Amino acid sequence: MATIPTEPIGSIPRPAYLQQAMQAYTKAEISSDDLARLFSQATRETIISLEGTGSPVISDGEQSKPSFATYPIHGLLNLGSEGVVIPFEDGHTRQLPVLTSGPFRYRNFAVGYLREARKHTALPVKQAVISASAMSLLYPVAGIDGYPQSQFIADLLDQAEADIRKCLNERAYNVQIDFTEARLALKLDPSQGLLQQFISLNNQVLDRFTAEERSRIGIHTCPGGDHDSTHSADVPYQDLLPLFFQLNAGNFYLEYAGEKDKISVLESIRHNIRPGQRVFLGVTDVLNPRIETPEEIRDLLLQAAEYIPLNQLGSTDDCGFSPFADDISTAREIAFEKIRARVEGTKLAEAKL
Ligand SMILES: [Zn+2]
Repeated sequence: MATIPTEPIGSIPRPAYLQQAMQAYTKAEISSDDLARLFSQATRETIISLEGTGSPVISDGEQSKPSFATYPIHGLLNLGSEGVVIPFEDGHTRQLPVLTSGPFRYRNFAVGYLREARKHTALPVKQAVISASAMSLLYPVAGIDGYPQSQFIADLLDQAEADIRKCLNERAYNVQIDFTEARLALKLDPSQGLLQQFISLNNQVLDRFTAEERSRIGIHTCPGGDHDSTHSADVPYQDLLPLFFQLNAGNFYLEYAGEKDKISVLESIRHNIRPGQRVFLGVTDVLNPRIETPEEIRDLLLQAAEYIPLNQLGSTDDCGFSPFADDISTAREIAFEKIRARVEGTKLAEAKL
């Protein structure tokens, strides 16, 4: 029987009491101690439910992350509000902050989430971190007096490396770099220049790790998922994957269940994947509330196994179920049921291969 590793991406919708507490905290109606206690409670409940799905690898569900992208800078004082705007298909936007002065330092490292999660479980815990390329968007186009972009990039590379290394050192099962702006970069700049710049930056971080360490580092890409809408699903995967697999990482977590032309995606993966790289295909569509059956997931993986060598294949969810803390578009229970189906469907595929 084959072994197909299966892992979550990261986020699980926060429970209603936590959503309410986070809002109450912004209005100074509850203390930071109160909020911290509820973060811990939600993390513990999420981990118990994740264990209940049978998932062999779990995450903290990102219950206390303000968002997958902004956790390192949450609370920094040298930020303004008018940064890069990310438009989604349904018309809503997310706006990043902008750096107003140097030096650039992360205020929070992801290892804090890992430490909290590991208090509540004996299972392997994976930890997601934000890409250096996403953080590079914080530097203003007009520049900063006395803090040139070259110095910002040098500082950023150090911070992004430290964010990963701290997790590896504290026994993260593995670390996943969220690189959701990869496909978006092709939409913003079809000449591929921006994507190449992003990949080069992320490779400068990856190149600071040994081959063995890189086998525990992965990259996630998707067309963006927020309030059940995407930002770059119309960019063909075939344009992204040749460059994407140039990243010097061991694991690649690809949105896949939501793709219409799956055969083209599989052919592109087969063509571009390099030895020593493993692709985790998304087998649950996080933007659709319908729960996949284990048999559907089995069949997706059996088809994928015709294109991808078994020792390079794994399964995952298309994306986090709630990358931004205030996104309640997917019910918590649906997320757990989808994960349960992924775990069972992956086992069914293993039994057939
Ligand atoms: Zn994603």
